[in-house]
Amino acid sequence: MKAIVVRRGSETPAVIEKPRPDPGPGEALVRTLRVGVDGTDREVIAGSHGEFPEGEDHLVLGHEAVGVVEDPNGTDLERGDVVAPTVRRAPSGGGNGYFERGEPDMAPPEDALERGIAGAHGFMAEYFTSPAEYLVTMPREFAAVGFLVEPISVSEKALELAAASRSSFQWEPETALVLGNGSLGLLTLAMLDEYDRTYCLGRRDRPDPTIDLIEELGATYVDSRKTPVDEIPAVHEPADLVYEATGYARHAFDSVEALAPNGVLALLGVPESWQFEVDGGDLHRDLVLHNKAVVGSVNSGVGHFEAAVDALCDIPGWFLDAFVTGVFAPENCEEAFVDDETTIKTAVQFDTL
Ligand code: NAP
Ligand code: BGC
Ligand code: ZN
Repeated sequence: MKAIVVRRGSETPAVIEKPRPDPGPGEALVRTLRVGVDGTDREVIAGSHGEFPEGEDHLVLGHEAVGVVEDPNGTDLERGDVVAPTVRRAPSGGGNGYFERGEPDMAPPEDALERGIAGAHGFMAEYFTSPAEYLVTMPREFAAVGFLVEPISVSEKALELAAASRSSFQWEPETALVLGNGSLGLLTLAMLDEYDRTYCLGRRDRPDPTIDLIEELGATYVDSRKTPVDEIPAVHEPADLVYEATGYARHAFDSVEALAPNGVLALLGVPESWQFEVDGGDLHRDLVLHNKAVVGSVNSGVGHFEAAVDALCDIPGWFLDAFVTGVFAPENCEEAFVDDETTIKTAVQFDTL
């Protein structure tokens, strides 16, 4: 079967032939339909995030998959079920308490593998196997967009953690600020329809398709080159929720100033090392005296995938049509990883239902 990989020492995806996997006990065989691409995949290919599987000279890419069950192999799934796989798997040598409790997304990185990212092959192949417990079913009509369940689930988890940090008092958020107009930022913006006012930060000139989408969602575009994050309260208004999806490390600190009293900042970006100055005293005082919270969030579990299937139902079709800017055959996979100003979200298509 065809698989899209990055080889050790290379920064370019390549198509190779691999044997079709056989499902082990408790695993189902899945025929891959589409696999999405995000900023993490580009970081993996560039070598700034993730790891090769131990002893292997390549990593099969892809962690945002949708497929159809080809062989349920005695599990509770049925042939023809449309499924999305979760990303984390137990490290070789066995699971740990996080996996035993059904909370692999809460494991520290050294206690988990991530398919297509860290130490385990991903889903960009014509077939993959997975324990049935990590395959989340969705309606068949979602086959074309089901690769968005994984990124939506990441936001479901982050928004749940953020709300949980505000659950001890009457928190009635009205304003949300999303940092980043990449695929994760825009998808999250589309999920925040219960907020009265939403803002989305980018650093692009008009005309730009992401700015069009931001405005069509009824949000206000903020250009970080003209209005840095810490000036947003003065120019616009402070935000009850800030959702960071830029990977720009200063935002972790500047965003605290953009929060309204009792607000919460959710950090999703995965920046590289960068040293810069911050006024730690001001930051500390502001967090304390205004009851502000900062939560970091990574990955997602089965419950977040299930919530994501429901959330995907609520995202309007016109948004999804404009958001998915390219679907490519495996042979043209290099185009799926290009990140230019006309690209928002891409996927590789292996098959159709
Ligand atoms: P992406 O496509 O690279 O999006 C990042 C966006 O942020 C880009 O559109 C970029 O603008 C914008 N940006 C960066 N610095 C900015 C600045 N200073 N001001 C304004 N805009 C800025 O990546 P993604 O897939 O959406 O993911 C976003 C981040 O979340 C990445 O760091 C990724 O690794 C991380 N992530 C984390 C999780 C998790 O579980 N925690 C899950 C998925 C992704 P330009 O395109 O104009 O440069
Ligand atoms: C993936 C998550 C993963 C994270 C860190 C994200 O792009 O969607 O599943 O945990 O990267 O590797
Ligand atoms: Zn991802």
